[in-house]
Amino acid sequence: MTPKYIDLHCHTTFSDGTLTPEEVISLGEHTGLSALAITDHDTVDAIPFALEAAKIHSLEVIPGIELATGYGTKNTEIHIVGLFIDCKNPSLLSLTEKIVAERNARNSLMIKKLNSLGFEITLDELKAESGGKIISRPHYARLMVSKGYVKDISDAFSKYIGDGKAGYVKRSLPTPEEVISAILSSGGIPILAHPTLYSMNYNEIRKMVDEFKSLGLLGIEVMYSTYNHEQEREITRIAKEKELLFSGGSDFHGENKKGIHLGTGKGNLRIPYEFLDKMKAVL
Ligand code: AMP
Ligand code: MN
Ligand code: MN
Ligand code: MN
Repeated sequence: MTPKYIDLHCHTTFSDGTLTPEEVISLGEHTGLSALAITDHDTVDAIPFALEAAKIHSLEVIPGIELATGYGTKNTEIHIVGLFIDCKNPSLLSLTEKIVAERNARNSLMIKKLNSLGFEITLDELKAESGGKIISRPHYARLMVSKGYVKDISDAFSKYIGDGKAGYVKRSLPTPEEVISAILSSGGIPILAHPTLYSMNYNEIRKMVDEFKSLGLLGIEVMYSTYNHEQEREITRIAKEKELLFSGGSDFHGENKKGIHLGTGKGNLRIPYEFLDKMKAVL
């Protein structure tokens, strides 16, 4: 039998991706994926469209979300993916509403900062750029590109809106407990996203995983677009040690992350369908 591949982490226009849910699902089918999870940042609004699109495409669509949480004394931003969530669950929806309110407060501050740096950027322009209710930094970057302030998205991040830069404002983030319990109460599986992206060593990751596991964490991304062989091996080792489910995804964002392809990441990613079988066994 030919192997079946999946992608359990990707974004649509409802957060900071550039393809609609229908387009992502159609692309997933053409890429030959057997299953795809839609995991927009801080919103489940794409899910009904994705589930509708799934009816006319031959691949399985898993409702998901990606939530950011503040961890530890430095309040490091750590991402948790929730898979198999119920997008109508009141606890989950009340958390996403609170997060959107916090994003709105941050947007006012970020716009002020960028204006004071000499960039003419308005909330209305950002709303038009995002097309949805989640305005995040890639939308600022795109707007700055279109106004000729920077040459491309990564230029915008490295000069002005990347972490710690002059136009950046840190978001106020929910606690790991709030995020993990909202995912669990919606019937979902909480998964630690891309642990190599937090400037932590493997023992620091282990410590964080222990803490999150005590709050209900069930899985970890052992395959991810930017992992090298060593990272994949070490994160897999941690997942086995801590008896966590294996997950994996490309973190596809369309044109907002050039060079990251749906399903295959930078080209070599192949996430086996077996990961999903094991998740379904705990649902
Ligand atoms: P926000 O949630 O508004 O703080 O924006 C974070 C998003 O910006 C992430 O989800 C990424 O999609 C994107 N991002 C963060 N850093 C970079 C970077 N250096 N280059 C391009 N995109 C980035
Ligand atoms: Mn993103
Ligand atoms: Mn993330
Ligand atoms: Mn993501």
